[in-house]
Amino acid sequence: MAETYCGKKIQRRRPPRFELTGGAVCLDFVNTLDDRYTNEPKELLKTYIDLARFGEDTGILRTREVDQLFTRSQTSPEEAKRALTAAIELREVMYAVLWAIVNKKTAPRSALMTLNQFVQEAAQHAQLVETNGRFEWKFEEALSFDAPLWPIARSAADLLASDQLAFVRPCAARTCLWLFLDTSKNHRRRWCDMTKCGNRAKFQRFYTRKKTRMKEQR
Ligand SMILES: [Zn+2]
Repeated sequence: MAETYCGKKIQRRRPPRFELTGGAVCLDFVNTLDDRYTNEPKELLKTYIDLARFGEDTGILRTREVDQLFTRSQTSPEEAKRALTAAIELREVMYAVLWAIVNKKTAPRSALMTLNQFVQEAAQHAQLVETNGRFEWKFEEALSFDAPLWPIARSAADLLASDQLAFVRPCAARTCLWLFLDTSKNHRRRWCDMTKCGNRAKFQRFYTRKKTRMKEQR
């Protein structure tokens, strides 16, 4: 049976959609629950193919792998759905740990325990490979529905164990709060994306000032 969402058939091809402003795959992944802090959070991973597309957009999966996963998610929809549920669990424990960190709190133990399970599972599908005198983690070919989860979990582990962790920030727009890694020189970046949240905030400031001025003139 073809993968459907709300009765609509899912198309494999579509223009790039995920806004990758996080600076680390794990942060972009946390941001796939958009408007998280509003009354109506927006789930960007509605079907398994959304997850595979995220893998394609971020470069953790190759187009060929996404094609294969897409075809297989249509023949084994239950298995694909199980992997999507696991991906969302991974995302939420990553969020719980990172959100605690950005708020200078201790990470919740249960979330960290679950995250560790994902990290250990990911390690079983990766090996060190030498290229030009350097080593990197390479994940096995994405034949399993869980394949997108491995590099995501690995990315979270790398970030959490690095000095960069101190530079993870939530976007300053209160309705956004997307997480990003502030790699700017003076570490004073405020917005997930200047053209999106930054401009909106600027516009609001300008608009409020203008309104105040108009009131004052009355
Ligand atoms: Zn933002």
